[in-house]
Amino acid sequence: MSEDEYDYLFKIVIIGDSGVGKSNLLSRFTNDEFNLESKSTIGVEFATKNIKIKNHTIKAQIWDTSGQERYRAITGAYYRGAVGALLVYDITRQSSFQNIEHWLKELRDHADPNIALMLVGNKSDLEETSRAVSTEEAKEYAADSKMLFFETSALDSTNVSQAFYTAFEEIYNTVPKSVT
Ligand code: GDP
Repeated sequence: MSEDEYDYLFKIVIIGDSGVGKSNLLSRFTNDEFNLESKSTIGVEFATKNIKIKNHTIKAQIWDTSGQERYRAITGAYYRGAVGALLVYDITRQSSFQNIEHWLKELRDHADPNIALMLVGNKSDLEETSRAVSTEEAKEYAADSKMLFFETSALDSTNVSQAFYTAFEEIYNTVPKSVT
């Protein structure tokens, strides 16, 4: 099957504070790449990867803010048509966890009310030295806000594909296929 043959196309957005690892989660999942330097340029808007879920080919179209959150310049177009959202914080930075509330509000204001939500605590490789947000606290918060939850490391790949696959499985199971 070529890149252009697929059964469903699902758009998801990755949001969260600047520096939490959104771009690296995307490049780890789609290209198996990691960059130590944070890219400050406005770059690619989305990347795609074909994945298999229950014998169907899903074209996963994953949007990255490309740094626009720094200037509070994310527009409604970013969220349009998204059936899932990954809300990312950095487990070593408490403020990025507290700001998830802000990102949920963004979704309430701009996204489809049925959007599938996943909370992602990234940089789990730093847990020994500098964890600032406990797994329990985040898990509880995710459950209260009806979000799936994973802790990941884009650096050492822990749980990255598991998180994306779980999000797409959830979408596959819940989204009305006629609208895709
Ligand atoms: P974004 O602004 O949310 O897109 O974040 P980036 O993907 O640009 O990453 C910001 C910084 O955090 C960069 O210096 C990355 O190398 C680093 N980073 C991203 N993910 C991880 C991770 O899982 N572990 C560690 N230790 N550093 C990470």
